[in-house]
Amino acid sequence: MTLFDSPSFANHEGVHAFFDEKTGLKAIVAVHSTARGPAVGGTRMWNYGSAAEALEDVLRLSRGMSYKNAIADLEMGGGKSVIIGDSRTQKTPELFRAFGRAVDTLGGIYYAAEDVGVSVADIAEARKETTRVLGLKDGPEASGDPSPVTAEGVYRSTLAVARRLFRQDDLTGLTIAVQGVGHVGGYLADKLAAAGAKLVMTDVNAAVLAEVAARTGAQIVAPDAIYDVKADIYAPCALGATLNPQTLEQISARAVVGAANNQLATPEIGRILFERGVLYAPDYVVNGGGIINVAAEMNARQTRGAFDPNWVEMKLARLIETFEEILERSAAETRPTHEIADAIAEARIAGAREDRRKAA
Ligand code: NAD
Repeated sequence: MTLFDSPSFANHEGVHAFFDEKTGLKAIVAVHSTARGPAVGGTRMWNYGSAAEALEDVLRLSRGMSYKNAIADLEMGGGKSVIIGDSRTQKTPELFRAFGRAVDTLGGIYYAAEDVGVSVADIAEARKETTRVLGLKDGPEASGDPSPVTAEGVYRSTLAVARRLFRQDDLTGLTIAVQGVGHVGGYLADKLAAAGAKLVMTDVNAAVLAEVAARTGAQIVAPDAIYDVKADIYAPCALGATLNPQTLEQISARAVVGAANNQLATPEIGRILFERGVLYAPDYVVNGGGIINVAAEMNARQTRGAFDPNWVEMKLARLIETFEEILERSAAETRPTHEIADAIAEARIAGAREDRRKAA
């Protein structure tokens, strides 16, 4: 397979491979689009079976970032990077400094951040070599942990769904099945419980689960039992692809609103949910609070100012308006929500490309 034949190739502007002999760094940066601004997206460290697998992943994920950044109306394009290796055994500070130097050679068309297998400490190492990394913990520009903002976006989206489907302004009397109560799921559970929801939850981490359940008064179920819970809303906040042919037969909720990335195993599943009358809140729309938080750090960097929580709130409110527009259009056009979301993101990216062409 070559790059251009890959099923995940989607007219990416650039794909850059890096090797550093001294540290053993093997990394690929994919820049899907810079039409709306510098490409921004996390760095994933994963023990890929082959370079071809890593390439597939980075192509797919970078395109997803273009859509996520566009739907959140951020002046950022989409990109992603992968480091090939085992994050438990092959991480060194030097590796991330080499990664920082690699990112720096791209001259600002791509900004990296944390993702699976890459921590705040790793990004701090890369920061010693480049300003083109985001997701810092310390300093006036630092955006810190994005999880509370992600949870707030998912929470407000849940309220929007409750208004539309159940004709109520809070969550009183609604049962919500929460899968995964880690960073985002934990904050989300607190908010849902405070708004009157009855929670049923699961997590593979028994200690975290017990703690969150105790403070929210939730009922606990085994990980595999979460799909069979008789809930009004299913909130996936752990893994991707939990909406698949098997779980489709188990889930009885009328809506799916959660933080997890890539919830639909295939786009076809989104269409089936729609045909069955299940309202699917597109994942990359409702979980966009985290990237908005990161974007505020980029603003601060570019203006040499400080992180501005008011700007984050303004953008989050606008994102929820976009989500409500998606729900409206889905009903009016009898078209699945994920297709409407993609169409809006694609129109925004194409519009920015056209503006650039005219300005050139
Ligand atoms: P996290 O690792 O803190 O939490 C995930 C939780 O899910 C953990 O407690 C883990 O034990 C649990 N889990 C794993 N496998 C499970 C299983 N099979 N059944 C039940 N629970 C399981 O991660 P997070 O930062 O809270 O992110 C959760 C999801 O939201 C991920 O898909 C992530 O990509 C997505 N997301 C997170 C952010 C953010 O701001 N952190 C932003 C956008 C999207």
